[in-house]
Order: sequence, then structure tokens, then C-alpha cells
Amino acid sequence: MRFDILTLFPEMLEAVLGSSIIGRAQKNGLAEINYVNIRDFAFNKHRRVDDYPYGGGQGMVMQAEPIYLAYQSVADGLDYKPYTIYMSPQGKTFTQGTAKRLAKKYSHIVLLCGHYEGVDQRVLDEIVDAEISIGDFVLTGGEIAAMAVVDAVVRLLPGVLKSEEAFSEESHYSGLLEFPQYTRPEVWRGRAVPEILLSGHHKNIENWKREMSIINTFKKRRGMLRRARLSENEREFAEKLKDRKD
Ligand code: SAM
Repeated sequence: MRFDILTLFPEMLEAVLGSSIIGRAQKNGLAEINYVNIRDFAFNKHRRVDDYPYGGGQGMVMQAEPIYLAYQSVADGLDYKPYTIYMSPQGKTFTQGTAKRLAKKYSHIVLLCGHYEGVDQRVLDEIVDAEISIGDFVLTGGEIAAMAVVDAVVRLLPGVLKSEEAFSEESHYSGLLEFPQYTRPEVWRGRAVPEILLSGHHKNIENWKREMSIINTFKKRRGMLRRARLSENEREFAEKLKDRKD
């Protein structure tokens, strides 16, 4: 899968996305991430890409033409339009569902990171297919949001994690939060690992994990539990949690 990220700060993204699992995915040829510096397409000697907003108001607005030229440097010569996303606090909120859909449906995504007060609407109308927000708050620029999207999508690509299990049990994948995790030592400062995890009884351990997922979701995100896909027995179990005192 290929990503082209249009940004004023490629060095921010390179440092983060070049590390850890996402860095390894690129080395293994499972993901290609390119950075296009919008400033390289400025058409004035000071390499400025922003200007005052028409109609007045605070701050500066990123101009349409450098962004369009940066986009064209990616899209020119392709016989398809790469799916183009503007990172924006006005977009649809990014979820695990969005990550799954992007990983499955697209082989080439362009991400546009805005800055300052935002981007001239005309270039958004010209090139953008979707706007995505990573939450109802305002960031200084789209780079952190783009990193979150690329990370969440790339780790879902086949071969990036060791096995499908690595993400299929994770929070949000199946509509539940994950069960609690433990590692060595068995007892840490008087707190012991739940005995069942040391039992070696795989079936019981699987049942425990599923129950703990339901309990975790009940305690932390009750709204999710109402929408989760549960068997009849699990639904009954979840209903009974309401009567528990702990
Ligand atoms: N004036 C804009 C508005 O009110 O919608 C906000 C501009 S913000 C300071 C600068 C850039 O950060 C935006 O163009 C966008 O690319 C990015 N950004 C800010 N918050 C974001 C969020 N929650 N999700 C995704 N991108 C965001």
C-alpha cells in the first residue's frame, strides 16, 4: 500500500513513521510512504505558501496552487485518482472501522496536512475525496493526525504484524475493548497475575479473555457494549454485570 503525504513538515513524519513496526513494514516492502514538501512548489522567492484570508480574520491560509502542484507531482501519470484525504477537525471522526476500510479498499492514499488557519477551499474542492478528523479538538497542523491514520492503517496490512490475532483481539477491532494483559514477573509488588493465565488450559484462558473483554467494555465504554456482536450467553453475562457491585 502506498501513501503520499503532502506536508510543510516532512521531517516530523519521517522521524515517527520511520520507526518501530511501521518503519519495518516499509523496509519489508509492505508499505511505501512518501513525503511531498508543499514548500517545494511555492512560486515566490521566499518559498511562502500562505497568505491573508479574503474577507479578513485571524491567521494565514495555505494557498491552493502549491498544494495542487504537490498533489499533481504524485497523481500525474497515474491512470487512476489516488484516494485523497484532507486531515481536518471538520472531518468525520477516525475510528478502527475507518482504518479497516482504508486498509482493505485502497492501494494508494494521498494525505493532505493543513497548517495555520487551514487551506484554500478551492483546492479541497478540486482534489479531496474525504475529510478525516482524529477527534473534536484542534491541532496546529495535520501531521500528527496523518501519522495516526497511517499507523492505524499500516498495522492492519497483511504481514505487518506477526499474525492476524495480533490485532483481531485488540480494542475496537471486534467492537469490544481488549482484556487486561500481564507479563513477567508472576507477582509484582504483591500483585499476582490471574491464576488462570498460568494454568495452561487454553479453552479456559480463551473464555476468561472474552469475559474480561466484556467486563472491561462494560466498565469503561458501556455504549460500545450495547452495539457489540455478542452470543446469547455473552449478552446474558453482560446484562448480569449491571447487578454486580465491584
Ligand atoms: N481553522 C481551522 C478550523 O477551524 O477548522 C483549523 C485549522 S488547524 C489550526 C490547522 C490544520 O491542522 C488543519 O488544516 C488540519 O489539517 C489540521 N488539524 C487540526 N485539528 C485536526 C484534527 N482534529 N484532525 C485532523 N486534522 C486536524
